[in-house]
Amino acid sequence: MRLFDTHCHMDVVAARSGDGDALLREARQVGLAAMVVPAVQPDTWARCAAATHPHDDLALALGIHPQAVRDLSDEALDDALHQLPTLLRAHGAVAVGEIGLDHRWDKAPEARARQLRVFEAQLQIARQLDLPVLIHGLNAHDQTLRLVRSAAWPAAGGVLHSYSGSAELVEVYSRVEGLMFSFCGPVTWRNARKAPAAARAVAADRLLIETDAPYQPPWPHNDRPCRPSDLRLVAETVAALREVPLEQLAEQTWANAQRLFRWPPSSGT
Ligand SMILES: [Zn+2]
Repeated sequence: MRLFDTHCHMDVVAARSGDGDALLREARQVGLAAMVVPAVQPDTWARCAAATHPHDDLALALGIHPQAVRDLSDEALDDALHQLPTLLRAHGAVAVGEIGLDHRWDKAPEARARQLRVFEAQLQIARQLDLPVLIHGLNAHDQTLRLVRSAAWPAAGGVLHSYSGSAELVEVYSRVEGLMFSFCGPVTWRNARKAPAAARAVAADRLLIETDAPYQPPWPHNDRPCRPSDLRLVAETVAALREVPLEQLAEQTWANAQRLFRWPPSSGT
């Protein structure tokens, strides 16, 4: 059985645990066979690229996370956006991300306008380079919908990572060509309602799984950071919710991720 973790902050996992290689080995033992590592702020891009390159099963994404926007000056943002296309190509990144809008933490209109500008610019970069996008959208579904329906949307598609919308919104987002939905820890939480309902509503060919490690650990591990091996719990939970065998869920989400990220890079399409 092969599991594809479409979103794992392996740089943060490794820094916090002190032994990222041990955690990767543990994950491979429970089926992890590919992982996308998003480097989410310009000062981590080179470090993440260097950390993923030696591993055949790790893929790189580069982007400016909406929560990173407020820490960067306009000049630093312009500089990063200017460098991003070259670095995406140079490092063989499989996606632009994570990018998007986070209205939970940024409430001021000016802060939200800056997030929007950076999101849109990165969608354009993905479109120009024909790369898919990893989208972080929190409390910002109206604006996110507007952008994914705009002319900036890349033909290569993208994923709503750690999908936080309702089951009803799944239908609306699904009209966007190439847009997929990824689920992680919250789908397993014991009092969760929204994420499980959404995970049931997604069409089989749009479904992805991830850990978002070290964030959002699945139940019953809420007392420690999320690990890459927790992908297995996410997969088991989503399979149970959709009433399909684990192997089927693994193969389906693997095939979806492979299509979206054109993985492995040599296979071509
Ligand atoms: Zn993330």
